[in-house]
Amino acid sequence: MPKIKTLRTKKPPDGFAEIEDTLLDFANRLKDIETAAHDGKKKNESLWPIFQITHQRSRYVFDLYYEREAISTELYQWLLKQGYADANLIAKWKKQGYEKLCCLRCIQAKENTYSATCVCRVPKHKLDKDKVVECVTCGCKGCASSD
Ligand SMILES: [Zn+2]
Ligand SMILES: [Zn+2]
Repeated sequence: MPKIKTLRTKKPPDGFAEIEDTLLDFANRLKDIETAAHDGKKKNESLWPIFQITHQRSRYVFDLYYEREAISTELYQWLLKQGYADANLIAKWKKQGYEKLCCLRCIQAKENTYSATCVCRVPKHKLDKDKVVECVTCGCKGCASSD
């Protein structure tokens, strides 16, 4: 009879070792930015790289699980729980029209002035050609899925 494991360990689920290096890389890049000086930058702008890296990290986890099917559900959920990916953002990516959404704030009407959503959510063909698209929150240059 096989032994039934009842021991609860705090160790990450199987498969973590394979992606650990990449996750560490994201963590190091975040640390670098947080410790770098923000001289001459507006407060919002100094936060953009942080949003962009955490976005990339969420996307990485999302791809691993949904696109490449390279990790187990157990590991995926563990990563979410540990804060390696934003579950709320990933929930949006699964919806039509939000596949490329950069951050949740861009779809919160109150914080933005551009009609109901952030300027980065407006398809490029609907904007003036000369207009600079830049999300104030994360510096996104456009994440409408029709672009
Ligand atoms: Zn955006
Ligand atoms: Zn944004």
